[in-house]
Amino acid sequence: LTVTDLVDASYRRIADVDGRIGAFLALDEENARRTAQQLDKQLGTDEPRGLLFGLPAGLKDNIVTAGLATTCASKFLSNYDPIYDATVVRKLRDAQAVTVGKLNMDEFAMGGSGENSAVKPTRNPWHPDHVPGGSSSGSAAAVAAGEVYFALGSDTGGSIRQPASYCGIVGMKPTYGLVSRFGLVAFASSLDQIGPLTKNVEDCAYVLQSIVGHDPQDSTSLNVTDIPDYLSALTGDIQGLRVALPKEYMGEGIDPRVKERVLEAIRVLESLGAVVEEVSLPHTEYAVAAYYLLASSEASSNLARYDGVRYGVRTDNAGNLLDVYRYSRSEGFGPEVKRRIMLGTYALSSGYYDAYYLKAQKVRTLIKRDFDNVFANYDVVVGPTAPTPAFKLGEQVGDPLTMYLNDILTIPVNLAGIPAISVPCGFADGLPVGLQVIGKALNESTVLRVAHAFE
Ligand code: GLN
Repeated sequence: LTVTDLVDASYRRIADVDGRIGAFLALDEENARRTAQQLDKQLGTDEPRGLLFGLPAGLKDNIVTAGLATTCASKFLSNYDPIYDATVVRKLRDAQAVTVGKLNMDEFAMGGSGENSAVKPTRNPWHPDHVPGGSSSGSAAAVAAGEVYFALGSDTGGSIRQPASYCGIVGMKPTYGLVSRFGLVAFASSLDQIGPLTKNVEDCAYVLQSIVGHDPQDSTSLNVTDIPDYLSALTGDIQGLRVALPKEYMGEGIDPRVKERVLEAIRVLESLGAVVEEVSLPHTEYAVAAYYLLASSEASSNLARYDGVRYGVRTDNAGNLLDVYRYSRSEGFGPEVKRRIMLGTYALSSGYYDAYYLKAQKVRTLIKRDFDNVFANYDVVVGPTAPTPAFKLGEQVGDPLTMYLNDILTIPVNLAGIPAISVPCGFADGLPVGLQVIGKALNESTVLRVAHAFE
C-alpha cells in the first residue's frame, strides 16, 4: 500500500459520495498527488516517518491555506486566496499528512446545522434528510462518510463536538490556547479553538499530538513546555476514576432516548471501575444567553475587517466610500452573520455595555467556578454532547432561538476554556448519539483515557 493508493482512495470516495453529502468546498488534487508521490519515496527507507504519515485529511474552510481558497463558506470571501498557511496546516505537513481539500461549514462558523453555508448544506451520512450538525458540518460528514481519514474543525460553542455527535464520530475541543489559532479566521477569539474529528479516540490522540504546542504568532497560545504523550494515556484503565454527572445535563429538554444512551454509557464506565456520582453545575441555565452575547460581541468586532477594501468581494454598486462598506456587507454576509453583528454591536454600544457584555462576562466567571468546584473532587464530568440526535434539514432554520438552545451542553466548556470530547455511545432510531467527556484545563490525557476505555 502506498500513499498514492490512500490519496487515490480518498478522491475516489469523494467522487462517489460527495455529490450526495456536500462535505467539500474545494479539492487540492494536484498538490495532494504531488505530496503523495514525494512521501512514497520514503517507503522502504529508514527515514523516520511523521505521526500522520500519508493520511488523507480535510480542513474546515476557516483554516487558511496558502494558494488554496479559504472562504468560510461565505460569499464575502468567495475570492479569498490566502498568502500564508495556518500554524496547524504547517504542523500537519510536518507530521506528513496529506491535505485533500477544504470542508463545508456554517458561514464564519456561526450555526449548528451546516445550513448557514452560503454554498450548500451538508447532509448527514447516516440519513440524508437530517443535518450533520455544525458549524464543522463538512469536517464531521467527510470523516463519517469515509472521504478522509481525519479532519480539523473549530469549536467556539460546540462546533466540533456537536457535529461529531450527530455523525457518530469522535470530536475534541482542546483546552483554550493549546492549539494555535494563527490562521484560523476569527469568530469569537476568546472561545475559538481548533481540534480533531476522527473515527476513533486513538486517531484523535495522534492528531491532537501533531497539532498542539506554543506558537509565538498567537498571543493567546499557552506556553506549555511539557506536552504529554497522549497515546500513552490510552491505557484502558479507569479503575477508581471519579466521574461527575451534572443533574442539569440530564434534566428537562434532553431527549429521553439520549438520556437512555448516556445512562447505559455510565453503566459501562462503572463496570470498568469508575465511581460515578451526581453533581450540580448550577449556572448552566445562563450559559446560552451569556455565550450568545459574548460570541456576538466578539464577532461584531472581528468581522469589522470585512469592509470590501481589505478582504474579499467588493460591491459593484457603490458610488462613494460609505456605500462600499454598506453594500459589500449587505451583499456579502448571510442572514445569521448579520444577526450576530447587529446583536454584538448593540451589546457593546455605550449605555448597554454594563447591562449586557459586562453582565455576560460575570456569568462566564460563575460558570467557570461551577466547573472548578466539581473538579476539586472529580477527574471528569460526563453527559450528553447534545440534547437530541440530528434534526431534519429545514426543521429549525426559521427559528434561531431553538437552534441556539441546542448548544446548552457544549457552550459551558468553551466559556470555561477546558477540554472536552464527544465519543459515540449508540443510536436513537438510526441516528448517532454522543457522550461528552469534559476534563480539567490541560488534562486532555484523562479525557482521552476515559473516552478510549469507554469506546
Ligand atoms: N452553534 C454555535 C454558534 O452558532 C457554536 C458555533 C461554533 O462553535 N463555531 O455559535
